[in-house]
Amino acid sequence: MQSINPKNSSVIANYTELDETALNQAIEQSHLAFRRWRKTSFEARAAVLRAAADELERRKPSLARLMADEMGKPLAEGEGEVEKCAWVCRYYADHAAEQLADKHIETDYLVSKVSYQPIGCVFAVMPWNYPLWQVFRFAAPTLMAGNTGLLKHAENVCGSALEIQAIFEAAGLPKHVFSTLLVDREQAKTIIEHPRVRAVTLTGSTRAGKAVAATAGAVLKKCVLELGGSDAYLVLEDANLELAASKCAQSRLLNAGQSCISAKRFLVHKNVITQFTELLMTKFQQQVMGDPLEKQTTIGPMARIDLRDELHSQVQRSIEAGATRLLGGEVPDLAGAYYPPTILSNVQPGMPAFDEELFGPVAAIIAVDSLEQAIELANQSDFGLGGGIFSADVATAEQIASSEIDSGACFVNDFVKSDPRLPFGGVKDSGYGRELSEQGIHEFVNVKTVCVR
Ligand code: NAP
Repeated sequence: MQSINPKNSSVIANYTELDETALNQAIEQSHLAFRRWRKTSFEARAAVLRAAADELERRKPSLARLMADEMGKPLAEGEGEVEKCAWVCRYYADHAAEQLADKHIETDYLVSKVSYQPIGCVFAVMPWNYPLWQVFRFAAPTLMAGNTGLLKHAENVCGSALEIQAIFEAAGLPKHVFSTLLVDREQAKTIIEHPRVRAVTLTGSTRAGKAVAATAGAVLKKCVLELGGSDAYLVLEDANLELAASKCAQSRLLNAGQSCISAKRFLVHKNVITQFTELLMTKFQQQVMGDPLEKQTTIGPMARIDLRDELHSQVQRSIEAGATRLLGGEVPDLAGAYYPPTILSNVQPGMPAFDEELFGPVAAIIAVDSLEQAIELANQSDFGLGGGIFSADVATAEQIASSEIDSGACFVNDFVKSDPRLPFGGVKDSGYGRELSEQGIHEFVNVKTVCVR
């Protein structure tokens, strides 16, 4: 397994996959660790998570540097990611006991209650785009619930994966309660099928989600799937266009556009489309693409050359199908996986920029005649993760966000961000199950009914 720096294609490190014996041993150790960990108190678990938060903050500069090297994230964004990981650790340290407290229900029994019990060893398959955050948002609730965690990270972020285990160990988490496994996709299947492993969670593409869900389904194991998105942002006729363009640009370009909840399709009312497009162009042109280690850089390279080439092919095929290239859209003459901020207009259903997920810094602008058409086109997607609506009429926008847009989240006059206090997840091909908040910690527990006569 190799970690390759996407800014210049140099090899950062080589890693050796676990062999079958070592893998079985790691799973067995995780199970044995579970038997002890499940008996610990919430206070003891919370102390470890708070120490992990402190440890994350102590290591912030080196972690940001590691992410910049492994997948091209600019340093400032990397530091923000580390802080968010510390936040989710502290959030569950503070709230897990109350979220998992027994719930008493009155019946004719002396006692009747719901008790939330850990289920065992939970396997996580994670992507490279937020190498730390995706893992901590799984690990914090899972460990607080009394489960143990096994991690298969994306191949290009093995360094980050090992660092996460080191952070937990430094925080005092008993050995084997959280283990990073250097394994490939075939071994991931073996892990899901292993009788000691009780559930699986995957964050990644829809293709990977279907493969993992099929394996888990065949052995009757629960899974949570956080998959791709091609979310629509509606810019209505009465929107504050400066605000809309600013939030849309931020959402589309964060992490070089490699975020599942990025705004990807912009459905803009025809009466404001010229002004909105000009504003968006200005914001895109202000970006500084370059070395993620340089302070002024706002867009680093994409995570891998093959991902950049796939994105470029989607852009080219959209242009061939009739989209107009307003900005970017050409592979720069630079070493590394760079792709410039790109804007396509006249995008329509049937084009890759409308039908598929564009996982990079490319905005697709679609003109709409009415609110009804905007809603129709927003929902004309295989995905449904996190949409947005910009309008001065916040009451109507809230109603549309609540009941008209098919997605796991919809924000009004802002872009969608994950927050430990709020549930996160999708519908349709964006997956099922929820992470974060009280809903997230309830995914991997045995909701047990206990009655006493
Ligand atoms: P990916 O190719 O699906 O990889 C994600 C993880 O799944 C990696 O660890 C990968 O391992 C593993 N994997 C892939 N195919 C597998 C299989 N058949 N069996 C078992 N494991 C498998 O996705 P990506 O390109 O890294 O990430 C981008 C995608 O993730 C986008 O679609 C994005 O929208 C989505 N995403 C979703 C969320 C969310 O919360 N909803 C968050 C972030 C990203 P290898 O690296 O070894 O191939």
